Amino acid sequence: MLEQSPDIEVINILKATKIRRNDMIEMDALLVQSAVRHRHLCPRQVLGVRIGLAGAKEFGLDVPRRDKRLFVFVETDGCFISGVEVATGCCVNRRTMRVLDYGKIAAVFVDVTTGEAMRVAPRKDVRHHARDYAPHGETRRYFAMLHGYQTMPDDLLLTLQRVELQVPLSEIFSRPGVRVNCDQCGEEIINEREVKQDGKTFCMGCIENQEHLYSFIY
Ligand SMILES: [Zn+2]
Ligand SMILES: [Zn+2]
Repeated sequence: MLEQSPDIEVINILKATKIRRNDMIEMDALLVQSAVRHRHLCPRQVLGVRIGLAGAKEFGLDVPRRDKRLFVFVETDGCFISGVEVATGCCVNRRTMRVLDYGKIAAVFVDVTTGEAMRVAPRKDVRHHARDYAPHGETRRYFAMLHGYQTMPDDLLLTLQRVELQVPLSEIFSRPGVRVNCDQCGEEIINEREVKQDGKTFCMGCIENQEHLYSFIY
């Protein structure tokens, strides 16, 4: 027998049994995993999880993956990557992720078996819409994004665009066990990253006319 007004009773039952959409429970679990790596949860990690899930969904792939079927290029470093990693199972050390330092919250997903690629990024007006999905009365922009990004529907949060890779996957992956030595510094080069010039073999650090990250101090 309902002892309180029906509305309150239903709310209590919902609270007690935590009836929520399955995908929200999954999201929460992923966000916890991501936040543990940083000791905080921030909007960029949420975007990483949402973008990771959306990218995999486009190819109908279950995630997080333990195989190498899904490959992802992330277009920035930072917190965003943790979200993408926990959602997809892709990571740099398994060679299923590559970091492009474009300074952009976006990722390109590749279905390795078909070579099909899809770029997923936040919509340009995403901050504006996040407020509508934040808890009522939340006026702080950061927290509006943090909460809004978790619950906004995909079509308000993200843009998805088919892309074509300009470098074949076989070149990106290369082959295990391939190694040569640089003719200038003598160091070993793996993954066919050497450059041939005038019949000689150079590593990227030694090749002339290359933009160098560092120079040696003598
Ligand atoms: Zn962060
Ligand atoms: Zn070299």
